[in-house]
Amino acid sequence: MLSYFRTHLAGRVFLSYVVVVLVGIIVLATATSLSIPAAYDRHMSGMSTMMSGGNMPLAPAPATGADNAQEMEVELFASYQTSVSEALALAAGAALIAAVLASLLISRQVVGPVQKMMLASHRIAEGEYAERIAVPGIVHSNQLDELDQLALSFNQMADKLEKTELMRRQLLGDVSHELRTPLTAIKGYMEGLMDGVISASPETYQQVFTEADRLQRLVNDLQELSRVEACAFSLDLKPVSINNLIETVASHLGRQFDEKGVHLQMKLDDNLPELAADPDRILQVLTNLIGNALQYTQPGGNIYIHTTRNQNEVVITVTDTGIGIAPDQLPNIYKRFYRADKSRSRTSGGSGIGLTIAQALVKAHRGRIWAESPGEGKGSSFHFTLPLEA
Ligand code: ADP
Repeated sequence: MLSYFRTHLAGRVFLSYVVVVLVGIIVLATATSLSIPAAYDRHMSGMSTMMSGGNMPLAPAPATGADNAQEMEVELFASYQTSVSEALALAAGAALIAAVLASLLISRQVVGPVQKMMLASHRIAEGEYAERIAVPGIVHSNQLDELDQLALSFNQMADKLEKTELMRRQLLGDVSHELRTPLTAIKGYMEGLMDGVISASPETYQQVFTEADRLQRLVNDLQELSRVEACAFSLDLKPVSINNLIETVASHLGRQFDEKGVHLQMKLDDNLPELAADPDRILQVLTNLIGNALQYTQPGGNIYIHTTRNQNEVVITVTDTGIGIAPDQLPNIYKRFYRADKSRSRTSGGSGIGLTIAQALVKAHRGRIWAESPGEGKGSSFHFTLPLEA
């Protein structure tokens, strides 16, 4: 019961009212009991002076004993009434002051944290994202009332805002960096052509075209990335055969495999049931993984695609005998714009976004994606799973 008053704002507000009323009553009672005797004495002594004849006007007519007693009783009552009213007025004043002070103190306890939050939110709005507020419940005890919980939620919100702002700045930096490279190349070719330093040969036009093509792919990738990161896409789930999708991608990339001299081998489980997936999105994931395998495998190398069932999911594996990935780089390859070998990937046109998108798409299907590699120069394997139940 007591803990309710400590941990609930409503309890604390109720308690504060009770405290204010109690303080008022105590001060009123104390002040009254202290001031009544003094006031009474003062009025009684005033009355006795009057009666002893000092200030008493000379009575024209002789008064009887009964009249005197009645007059005295009236005077006594009037005196008593005045002294009680005086004492009450004094006590009420004191109680009012005490109640105001108690209310100020208590309301400051309730309003104080809210004001702190308001100031902190203003500072965050002005761009100071590191702003946080203290949570007294955590510091003093481990019991959190509503205000402490509000402060905690406020700090969590500030954390998220700070991270989002950091990501936004990083993204802007990355995007401008990525755009600068092909733009600088195009500008260089154009300046060379205008100055006559570079000849207007088909190769020059081809190089300008390649850079423009890279820009276009980058812009497309960025558009796709913003869509998947904001979860602004819907999955059009239908029954699909994963083996058919793999064969589609393999036949699309067939000419590139032949041109590069890379061998493709497939070992697909014929007994796999159909699964509920968005075929276009899964084609996108497969194209990225098989395309990467082809890109990072030297001529004469091999790529193996393997499908198998593991309990309630299908596991798809793309293994290559290519350049491999160093163990310390494995956790980073899903980060946007990450390239294990920056110069090589950039010249081969990779933007470092493909795996970020693939990971988001696999997660949207409630699957998992991971990579393994024995090390640089030793090839790599990319696996992803898709659940079998709808
Ligand atoms: P990119 O467009 O640069 O290939 P990805 O997001 O698809 O971007 O891949 C990120 C990085 O992961 C690549 O730049 C590369 O360094 C590494 N990577 C991806 N696939 C492979 C692979 N099969 N073999 C070796 N490295 C790979």
